[in-house]
Amino acid sequence: MVQNKTSLPAFLQGNEEMARLIREKDWAATALGPIESWPKSLLTALGIMVKSKFPMYLFWGPELVGFYNDGYRPSLGNNGKHPSILGMPGQEAWQEIWHIVKPLIDKVLAEETATWHEDELVPIYRNGQLEDVYWTFSYSPVYNEQGKPYGVFVTVTETTQKVLSQKKLAITEETLKNLFHKTPVGMVVYKGPDFILELVNNVALEIWGKQEAELIGRPNFEVAPETKQLIEPLLTKVFTSGKPVTTNEFEVTYQKGGTTVTGYFDFVFKPIEEAGTITGVMSVFTDVTRSVLTRKAIEQNEKFSTSLLESNPDCLKVLNSEGIITYINKNGLAVTEIDRIEDAMGKYWWDLWGENEKEKIKAAFYKGLHGEHVHLEEFRITAKGSHKWWHISVSPIVNIDGAINQVIAVSRDITAAKKIQEDAQKLAQYLKLATESAEVGTWTLHMHNMDLEWSDLHKTMWGYPPDSDILTYEDWHKIILPGDNEKAQQKVKEALENRSLYEAVYRIKRYNDGEIRWMKSFGQYYYDDKGQPLILTGVSIDITKERLAEEKLIASETELRTLANSMPQLVWTTEPDGKVIFYNDRVSLYSGAAQQADGSWAWEAVVHPEESEESALRWKNALQTGEDFVREHRLKMKNGDYRWMLTICYANRDKDGAIAKWYGSSTDIHELKMHEKRKDEFIKMASHELKTPITSIKGYLQILQQKLQEEQDVVYQQILGTLDRQVSKLTKLISDLLDVTRIESGGMVIISDSFVLNDLIKESITDLRTVSKNHQLVFNEADRVEIVADKERITQVLMNLITNAIKYSPQKSAVTVSLEKINNEAVIAVKDTGIGIDKAEQKRIFENFYRVSGKDEQTYPGFGIGLYIVSEIITRHGGKIEVESEKNKGSIFRVRLPLEQQNK
Ligand code: ADP
Repeated sequence: MVQNKTSLPAFLQGNEEMARLIREKDWAATALGPIESWPKSLLTALGIMVKSKFPMYLFWGPELVGFYNDGYRPSLGNNGKHPSILGMPGQEAWQEIWHIVKPLIDKVLAEETATWHEDELVPIYRNGQLEDVYWTFSYSPVYNEQGKPYGVFVTVTETTQKVLSQKKLAITEETLKNLFHKTPVGMVVYKGPDFILELVNNVALEIWGKQEAELIGRPNFEVAPETKQLIEPLLTKVFTSGKPVTTNEFEVTYQKGGTTVTGYFDFVFKPIEEAGTITGVMSVFTDVTRSVLTRKAIEQNEKFSTSLLESNPDCLKVLNSEGIITYINKNGLAVTEIDRIEDAMGKYWWDLWGENEKEKIKAAFYKGLHGEHVHLEEFRITAKGSHKWWHISVSPIVNIDGAINQVIAVSRDITAAKKIQEDAQKLAQYLKLATESAEVGTWTLHMHNMDLEWSDLHKTMWGYPPDSDILTYEDWHKIILPGDNEKAQQKVKEALENRSLYEAVYRIKRYNDGEIRWMKSFGQYYYDDKGQPLILTGVSIDITKERLAEEKLIASETELRTLANSMPQLVWTTEPDGKVIFYNDRVSLYSGAAQQADGSWAWEAVVHPEESEESALRWKNALQTGEDFVREHRLKMKNGDYRWMLTICYANRDKDGAIAKWYGSSTDIHELKMHEKRKDEFIKMASHELKTPITSIKGYLQILQQKLQEEQDVVYQQILGTLDRQVSKLTKLISDLLDVTRIESGGMVIISDSFVLNDLIKESITDLRTVSKNHQLVFNEADRVEIVADKERITQVLMNLITNAIKYSPQKSAVTVSLEKINNEAVIAVKDTGIGIDKAEQKRIFENFYRVSGKDEQTYPGFGIGLYIVSEIITRHGGKIEVESEKNKGSIFRVRLPLEQQNK
């Protein structure tokens, strides 16, 4: 039902939206009933509310029916409670927050006091969703006519926006605070003229080594008075001027944890302005101590090395990989007489040199760049015209990673040293010349006109008359033999190019008589200030005599060589250590394979495998002892065949007795050897064939002897006796020959037994006494010796030695056999006082078929095989045989047999 407008209270007749809505609502249908029936207290409250611009809400009556005004309306948003909750009971209208609102209402009604809530979150349903809404609101009681609290008046402002922006602010502050403390730079805020510490971030605290609590609120220079003198003026400046101040690597000494430390800091001081006035200073700083210290150390190092380089008296240059000078020391400029550093720096090194040296310098540089160390000596006229000799060393500069992209060149002025050296050389040369020959001609060649000034002697030497007018260069070289001439002139040129001494040897056809003479000239150039050659002056001598002698020597050497090559033997000479230095052509015929790359001849390599070990051993021994090397062995021919050779090497000693050379030769004895072999084979066969008939002859002889004895035929008995002795001799000879063939073929066998040597010797002596009645045979037994040996063979040895002693003692003197034990050896000595043996022969008597050849010896029968067999038997017993003898005085043959027998 629409109310008559005029019957309504005035406040409901206005244009306010809510006035209109209250006015138009059909209240009769609600618990409150029509507006006319509303109590005055409600109307009064509504009147205040509707007319107020301030957001308000009213809960009224037991059902807490709700009213609100235009101010409140926006809080309800769109598509929400508005306008439906007007006149709705509270519980229904505010369902979602009734649990918050109801207790407040109850409290206000019961206690009759107002409540105050600020920025409280009370989410409401609006704009189609439940929204977080912040409110500041007050609940206050509204009284009815009876003075009882009958409603609750809510004045409310939505503060959502304010709260949210405050929150945002809080977040920003937090971030800033974090930033402040966590940025890796020190930050400090000072307040007021006393620079009270207001904020100090963690980095600053760490640098200072202090806690926040001991700083904040205190004047900076009370906390760190030691920094006052340095820092305060800066802060004051910023504070008073309002202008920022920046300092870099500012050195500050301060106390940190009880010690004094020095640090370097980059500071930025900025004024803090509030409302147009400066209230403080902000300091932002970075600790750069480490980098400053590192840099200082490097600077120090650099200073050190530069001062080293600078103080060096030589010219030091560092060149980059292109050869450009990137550093040159001060002294370097001075010694090279370069005034301005720009004339060297940035230039190619070789461009500082003259045309002649450029290439050499360049080459040296590139060698250095490739890791080589190069030294050279060069001549150079400096920019100021000084003549200087330089010793230049070029070395690579190797980086830590091994790469080379720089080179250091050190040039040392050696002009003075060079001059001394050259003068000395010159002097030495002249001195030598003077001593070598009195015939020294002197000469001077003038470079500007090539006039040659000769001493009279020089002219004579050349065959020119001594009084002839000035001679020219042409007169000198025109009589030099072709070939020598070009060389000699070339030497003149070279000496100029290399700035070295001139020296030439050449032949001239003497001007007057056409005789060929050998000449030797020395000379030296002299230069003017500009380095231009003025003169070449020197001396000449006639060296024909020496030259001829030399040629003779060469000729005789050639002769010798020809001789050596014409010999059928291989001949060679070796160094003291055995290295072959010369060998004749025949060597290549025999053993091309053993010729070495260095030209020597390793003869050891071509010895037949069966003899090579022994030969090498004996050669080694010869080299060590200097004894002669004599050896028969087979050497390999070029075609691979082996031939028997007799190799003999003798040491040639110098005057101090040291071995200077070995002379060796190898003679082909192959045919001989083959003959020998055939002979051996024949002997072997012949002795075998002879043995059988002889044995039977001997047998028949014995029968005949028996028979004649019985018949007592004295004459025939004697004849048979002689016959028997001859047959015995023949038997011995045959068995000796058989032994020899056995030895040669390695077939001699030793059958060992234990026996007493004394007894064996006694037996042998007794046997021989019967044969040789003319000699006195004595036995001296010093020891009783028991031995393990081949009894028969030892008997053979004794018989041989004693027989020889008797045989070679024509004086019928005594032969003494002695036996003793020395150092676990049985030593048997057979001594005679006969004809003796020459020293030179002593070594060879043990050789097969060797007999001493002299007129004395010729009278004694024999084949020269007895001692050969003896020595073989002794060797096979592991023993030794020696001879001690003197011509015409007698001999002692000494046999040593080891008692711990090792049969061979
Ligand atoms: P031969 O049958 O010639 O005696 P040997 O081999 O027994 O042969 O001796 C070799 C040579 O040694 C002899 O020819 C002799 O010249 C010399 N000879 C050996 N024994 C003696 C000795 N006791 N006195 C002197 N010369 C000796």
